[in-house]
Amino acid sequence: MTSTSPVWHPFTQHAVQPEATLIAKGEGAWLETADGRRIYDAISSWWVVTHGHRHPRIVQAIKDQADRLDQVIFAGFTHEPAEQLARRLVAITPPGLDYVFFSDSGSTAVEVGLKMALGFWRNRGESRSRILALQGAYHGDTIGGMSVGERGVFNAPYDPLLFEVDRLPYPAEGRAQATLDALERSCRAGGVAALIVEPLVLGAGGMLIYPPSVLAEMKRICASHGVLLIADEVMTGWGRTGTLFACEQAGVVPDIACYSKGLTGGSVPLAVTLCSAEIFDAHYSTDRTKTFFHSSSYTANPIACAAAVANLEIWDEEPVRERIARLGAWHATRLDRFRDDSRFANIRQIGTIAALDVVAGDAGYMANIGPYLYESFRARGLLVRPLGNTIYLMPPYCSTEADLDLVYDAIGEIVDGIG
Ligand SMILES: *Cc1c(COP(=O)(O)O)cnc(C)c1O
Repeated sequence: MTSTSPVWHPFTQHAVQPEATLIAKGEGAWLETADGRRIYDAISSWWVVTHGHRHPRIVQAIKDQADRLDQVIFAGFTHEPAEQLARRLVAITPPGLDYVFFSDSGSTAVEVGLKMALGFWRNRGESRSRILALQGAYHGDTIGGMSVGERGVFNAPYDPLLFEVDRLPYPAEGRAQATLDALERSCRAGGVAALIVEPLVLGAGGMLIYPPSVLAEMKRICASHGVLLIADEVMTGWGRTGTLFACEQAGVVPDIACYSKGLTGGSVPLAVTLCSAEIFDAHYSTDRTKTFFHSSSYTANPIACAAAVANLEIWDEEPVRERIARLGAWHATRLDRFRDDSRFANIRQIGTIAALDVVAGDAGYMANIGPYLYESFRARGLLVRPLGNTIYLMPPYCSTEADLDLVYDAIGEIVDGIG
């Protein structure tokens, strides 16, 4: 791709990164450039690809559905892929999530969740509109998603448009009580509609991992004040943390849950927001002003729903959980080599996600370490996209031990190069 391309890329500063790599093909855990170079997709193409690129079953489902019904208005109409998908999602998600609202991205799933929470309280005649969120959170790049996410350089220009939220300190190791105390205080102050959290892992915030017991406590405190819990499982869902959904590890049933990314195995865009019957019922009325007023043009696109149904069949019929457990074990043995290495800190892992912070080099070097690391991996045919000085891996589940060795060997070599 040349710098004369009219394409404006996401999260890309074109002045310092003028060239985008032209990808022609994907297969399994690997991408292939137009000129035939292979690249190992160590971050699942931004956390979406779970089983691997072009899983045959998903490809077939997309083809078959495209031959039958491509798109249909979803207000007043429905179709089998959406009906089947919704039934199956209700069956496999935490019990008590009984209704499914479709949208097209993680950000919109979060917007839908926030609107459900606000609509719930309004329709019940209670004035609760404050939202609580964690420090360091990421919930997407729409205005609502940015509002509940961490504020900083990424959203500073839009700050005047963002709504205020009560920010709870991140439950860092040994400091979880401060988070829970802040939650309790905010809930007691009243007017709180919901707490939104990324369960167990703050993804874009730096792959920060906190224990299931803290999530369970957050749920308990919310419930004792009638505050809704919104679980943003957009990244953590579909096996990333070792279980199908992260909330399972805490035995937590959220009131609202958002899923996207791996929902279609990472093939086509789709998102869902699930909610309890209580929330659906609060919108159920012959009074039309209590309707849930939300839609996107492609709500529950049949091709995307068919891809998601195929994803669920893969989970049912293939040893996905075994692949995830194996990947987790491979990470664990490979991370070990960095534990006594003073150039790395905060070595951490949950399920298929591994992360470590680079502390080598002087301050000047560290300021630009992210782009340096990214380029160094790229030169070795590895797609790794560090978050600042945090190197993380989030590979597709079909990755082999040899694939992982490529990346782990490269981590050592690249950081050797910093000196
Ligand atoms: C990626 C992500 C989103 C946003 O999803 P998009 O599909 O990029 O809009 C929201 N929440 C979390 C936790 C995410 O990781």
